[in-house]
Amino acid sequence: MKDKRVIKIKDPRLRKIRNEFRNLWSSAETVRWRGFGDEMEEIRFDKNDDHRILIEERSPENLKYYRSLQEAQQDLRENFRRSICMCYTCGRADLDMYYNKAYNAWWCVECVGMFRVMHPQMKEKYADKDPRFYDFDEGFGESFL
Ligand SMILES: [Zn+2]
Repeated sequence: MKDKRVIKIKDPRLRKIRNEFRNLWSSAETVRWRGFGDEMEEIRFDKNDDHRILIEERSPENLKYYRSLQEAQQDLRENFRRSICMCYTCGRADLDMYYNKAYNAWWCVECVGMFRVMHPQMKEKYADKDPRFYDFDEGFGESFL
């Protein structure tokens, strides 16, 4: 895939279909995400004694498995956030998307437009500031130009 690319759909009917596919994928992701959560909840809860099992009470194997479920859940969410189905910054799913290979993620064209306007302004604003005291990510802004 190219370093940067925009996927635009002009036909309103095709946009509607695209958005419905994104919503469908989002729903599937949510179902899988909740599945991990349900499994974690079962591990956390002792049904015989009707109480939540403390971390100290868990076996190393149980805790390791629980952490693997947490990681799988986080990976699933992060991969979805980086997908073309939603903007990495604002989360919108109904706009044309822009891929930025430097961050291996997609942004909506509105956020990209905002970055392109804001970056030169921020660069000028922070040009004479000590970078130790300001959190200005110049590389991020540059990657959208
Ligand atoms: Zn956005």
